Amino acid sequence: MTSIAELSSADHQALLTKVRGEYDAFRAAGHKLDMTRGKPSPEQLDLSNGMLALPGNGDYLTEANEDARNYGGLQGIAEARALFAPVLGAPADRVIIGDNSSLAMMHDSIVWALLKGVPGGTAPWSKESAPAFLCPVPGYDRHFAILEEYGIKMIPVRLTGQGPDMDEVERLVADPAVKGMWCVPKYANPSGEIYSEETAKRLAAMKTGAPDFRIFWDNAYALHHLTATKHEVANILELCEAAGNPDRAFVYASTSKMTLAGAGLAFFASSPTNVKWYLARAGKRTIGPDKLNQIRHVRFLKNIDGLHQLMDGHRALIAPKFAAVEEALDRRLTGTGVARWTKPEGGYFVSVDMADGLASKVVSLAKDAGLALTPAGATWPLGQDPQDSNLRLAPTFPSLGDVKVAAEGIALCMLLAGLEKRDAA
Ligand code: PLP
Repeated sequence: MTSIAELSSADHQALLTKVRGEYDAFRAAGHKLDMTRGKPSPEQLDLSNGMLALPGNGDYLTEANEDARNYGGLQGIAEARALFAPVLGAPADRVIIGDNSSLAMMHDSIVWALLKGVPGGTAPWSKESAPAFLCPVPGYDRHFAILEEYGIKMIPVRLTGQGPDMDEVERLVADPAVKGMWCVPKYANPSGEIYSEETAKRLAAMKTGAPDFRIFWDNAYALHHLTATKHEVANILELCEAAGNPDRAFVYASTSKMTLAGAGLAFFASSPTNVKWYLARAGKRTIGPDKLNQIRHVRFLKNIDGLHQLMDGHRALIAPKFAAVEEALDRRLTGTGVARWTKPEGGYFVSVDMADGLASKVVSLAKDAGLALTPAGATWPLGQDPQDSNLRLAPTFPSLGDVKVAAEGIALCMLLAGLEKRDAA
């Protein structure tokens, strides 16, 4: 299609009338669709139903003959740490298994850093003046919510398609108040991008004003491919060690979107010093995690091949949903100049950038048509997108049929917003 800006006035009015009619018909259909949260669908959860019968009556001993029913085992059972070590990119003795939520482990790490400090620092972060974090944008709203909750200043840094703008990051981390940084290095939420080797190297080696600066490397989508290409990302722990900053990175991951989102395993991996630091704090919080769930995961997945096979099953279920979104956006919007959107090769999201600050307009048109979208601004700290441009689409949870209808509706709302904007100009 031709760019909306270049249409003759008559063509613009004709198209506006047509698209308004289509939007009204869509709205009249009384849909109730939800594309807000990146949750696995029931069919994805079904892939792990085999776990519900595990470990089975009488099977509660670990390979080291520990009784998994009892207290203890703060770091996690050895065979589960060994199974997931390659996902974290760390040897098993540098991996800690928490309970089911990596977000909880990130939250605890930040609270402990604020109250107790981290290795290499001279004081708890909360005792220093105005600690700040770099927040690559667009990013994950719950990362930002943790910082907001504890009054940590958030400094947005643009993502480039290869990770954050590293010139900007290097400039900002010279300030000793900047204590940390979020990174979702692979199939990022929501941009889908993969940090380049060059970006990871610069993050590992950059000179920071704070001696206790930490990269929160949230590899939430480590194995969540949408194509046959299983993209790799740099090993940040090894790069930090090689650059002489062995304690710089905290690495997180979980099986929330591999096995069961409400009953998976969460992981932390880091240097020996940081692992010791984490366990010392965690040992005050709990006498040990759910080790039966760790046994359950080992029995079900068996080995890393079992994990990859499970992820192939997820891909088969969700790739068609991403294809449906792409198809509708391509067909309705290519060439219009209304928006740009990602074609992710992994992860859980499609990220849309609307031209002309139209994100909230699209969300409100969609809402009126029975289609729930993530609020505009959610991908920015404090929910404030200065350009009102970014929209996050989450197609995994609804059925394929619903995603197809929703994608058509979203594309219509985007087109209508663009046409009306020109009409008002
Ligand atoms: N990190 C990122 C980047 C996410 O997108 C999500 C969920 O959407 C999480 C973490 C949540 O992880 P968990 O379920 O392990 O708490």
